[in-house]
Amino acid sequence: MRAWEGLSPDTLEIAGGFGFYVHVPFCRTRCDYCAFATWTDREDLIDRYVDALCLEIDRTRSDGRWRTPETVFFGGGTPSLLSVDQVSRVLDHAEPAATAEITLECNPESTDVRLLSGISRAGVNRISLGVQSTKAHVLKGLGRTAHEGSVERALRAIGTAQIANYNVDLLFGGAGESPDDFVESLIEVLGFDPQPAHVSAYALTIESGTPLARAPERHPDDDALAVRYELADEVLGSHGYRWYEISNWAKPGAECRHNLSCWLGGECRGVGCSAHSHWSGERSANIFLIDRYVEAVLSGADATARRERLDASERSEELVSLVLRTRLGVPSSLVPESLVDDGLMEYSGDRATLTLRGRLLANEVANRLVIPPQVTTGSAREPRPSRGGLEAVQASLRSGTNQRIDTDA
Ligand code: SF4
Repeated sequence: MRAWEGLSPDTLEIAGGFGFYVHVPFCRTRCDYCAFATWTDREDLIDRYVDALCLEIDRTRSDGRWRTPETVFFGGGTPSLLSVDQVSRVLDHAEPAATAEITLECNPESTDVRLLSGISRAGVNRISLGVQSTKAHVLKGLGRTAHEGSVERALRAIGTAQIANYNVDLLFGGAGESPDDFVESLIEVLGFDPQPAHVSAYALTIESGTPLARAPERHPDDDALAVRYELADEVLGSHGYRWYEISNWAKPGAECRHNLSCWLGGECRGVGCSAHSHWSGERSANIFLIDRYVEAVLSGADATARRERLDASERSEELVSLVLRTRLGVPSSLVPESLVDDGLMEYSGDRATLTLRGRLLANEVANRLVIPPQVTTGSAREPRPSRGGLEAVQASLRSGTNQRIDTDA
């Protein structure tokens, strides 16, 4: 069986595969809370930007830092501003596996039947629709532009293109949003036709340098965010969605393979300005500014702005912090009983997972885990060099039986 077939939160297996991320840094308008690398006045650059993406893919493939992608994710920005031909060109260069999950993020404002039918024929088989809220006054409080009827049009397009596997993004905590507004928004989303297979619900965060950061009267209160989160879990849970990462709920089998692969330590290659990659223990990030990225790639220069190599201990710590946020949980050997006594984690066989309260305090929980600086696996007590920590944790996650993780410290 392939790693992801029949995947459900009960049978999570690590992808061990290769994910490919494409950053699309164009938006029609900028939302007040947004700190992503995206531009509202550079649509004239789209053609050259896609040329640069294709060139970067070709170079990455020829330098050997590439495998056949098992997942592809077009994120942004607003990838639905690309044309069908542009999406097809990128996919033609990347040559994903025939069974790959291929996701494209869509803004309802720029999503129609022609686009979705075309990209579906090109291979896109998963859509992530940025709805954020169905309430006009909440969108206004978030500083997000939305036109009446755009969500309905996008849903018709998803239905016509027969893309059954789609996600809705929600954002809670905007100024003027009441708990009832949030619940009504959730219920409306779950009543969409077709119904989403996956819902992401994120708490609004204040990013420095954004218009929202400069308006403290619009900042959410931590207690209010916690209440919204608990409501999300309750409503989604009662409609058959199960959480599998702190901000993500899915019908069984509809978990996002691309994101899971990243959270479980899979390798990922990102192309485009500001895109991050993780390959063979090295992390890298591309040039942030769109003009500089295009100029560099088209003139034959390297698009990478910085690289770092984590040692085994740092990689173990990073992976455990990511995996902690998933329903898969971490080996219980890493979890002090005090976390269970405090109601933040619960043991489940050889694993331990976050409780609902623990999900609200995940950063605090991560700081209290006992992550060994050097890790070995199985009965062999010798420390493995460099990749030991990651491999031990990954093997434990893959087996579902918590392969023993010992520390030499
Ligand atoms: S649509 Fe998304 S990427 Fe674009 S400005 Fe709004 S939040 Fe940022």
